[in-house]
Amino acid sequence: MLRRTVAAVVGSKPLAAVGQAFPPARALAAQFVAGDTLGEALPVVKSLVADGFLVTMDVLGEAVETAAAAEKNSTEYLDLLQWLAAERLTDAVEVSLKLSAVGQALPDGDGLSGEHARLICAAAHGIGSAVTLDMEDHTTTDLTLGTWRSLLPDYPRTAAVLQARLFRTPDDLNELAVDGRRIRLCKGAYTEPAEIAHRRSRDVDKAYVRGLKQLFAADAYPMIATHDSRLIEIAQELAARAGREPGSYEFQFLYGVAAKDQERLRDAGERVRLYLPYGTEWYRYFSRRLIERPANLGLMLRALGRRRP
Ligand SMILES: Cc1cc2nc3c(=O)[nH]c(=O)nc-3n(C[C@H](O)[C@H](O)[C@H](O)COP(=O)(O)OP(=O)(O)OC[C@H]3O[C@@H](n4cnc5c(N)ncnc54)[C@H](O)[C@@H]3O)c2cc1C
Repeated sequence: MLRRTVAAVVGSKPLAAVGQAFPPARALAAQFVAGDTLGEALPVVKSLVADGFLVTMDVLGEAVETAAAAEKNSTEYLDLLQWLAAERLTDAVEVSLKLSAVGQALPDGDGLSGEHARLICAAAHGIGSAVTLDMEDHTTTDLTLGTWRSLLPDYPRTAAVLQARLFRTPDDLNELAVDGRRIRLCKGAYTEPAEIAHRRSRDVDKAYVRGLKQLFAADAYPMIATHDSRLIEIAQELAARAGREPGSYEFQFLYGVAAKDQERLRDAGERVRLYLPYGTEWYRYFSRRLIERPANLGLMLRALGRRRP
């Protein structure tokens, strides 16, 4: 209930417009975002890699409304990949891509976003890096999985994301977790209708555990994307029971969240990858961080309050 209320508030257009233009909101978002530009993100990604983390970088900007904006984002990804190659970071750094950032939501945008995704996957493949196709709300699941399937024969290290929140995910895992495929399992950041998704957090958590069991029992490379320390513990138990060595699966965290757990797992010899976004279009990404943790919204509202004399 609280989650849905917060989602309604922070997802509203008026607050989005205020938030995006409001310096204290930007300052709060900075804990989750590496900077406005690649140049600003550079020292951040280098220091994470030097500290022993793997990284997946995201160019912020989603649900673009024109083909030109899709093209611009696609070019930014290609520039980013060139830069990763020039900096010799491709062993440790990959990219995450939202298909809506490269046109999926445009009329007939599936073909356009698929073409951009193919270019980006080809560039990543060429330099020894890889792409994860982020998962957006349920209206895009089939399209995104369709694009993933079409990329896998040429770019088998391309990863997809499944959301434990959705009722369909056990079936998707049954079908898709094969052939060593890389699959990120997350709870799901979008507020979905009750007909198709778990609403109560304990149901989402139980579904997440079932998803972990499926992933570890399958011939797949699990990418465990959660900050929930109980679920992380369960994942470690399942990995041990399945006889998985560290390196045959990985943990993933959002940059700026649960730093102590990131370090603890890294120090225990686990592979830990941090999701590191950069760019000027940070509000939508930030609003999902507010929805996940309403305490973050309190910080923002207090900052808004302090703005008045
Ligand atoms: C690497 C990565 C990639 C992701 N990719 C996708 C994707 O492609 N599609 C998608 O729908 N979702 C994605 N998500 C988001 C995910 O679905 C959840 O919305 C998000 O991770 C919060 O759920 P949780 O598993 O951390 O558990 P929660 O129960 O939400 O949180 C567990 C604990 O983590 C901490 N925490 C969680 N969120 C925050 C926050 N915002 N700020 C501060 N502390 C926090 C709190 O201590 C909280 O008690 C991704 C998450 C990660 C880590």
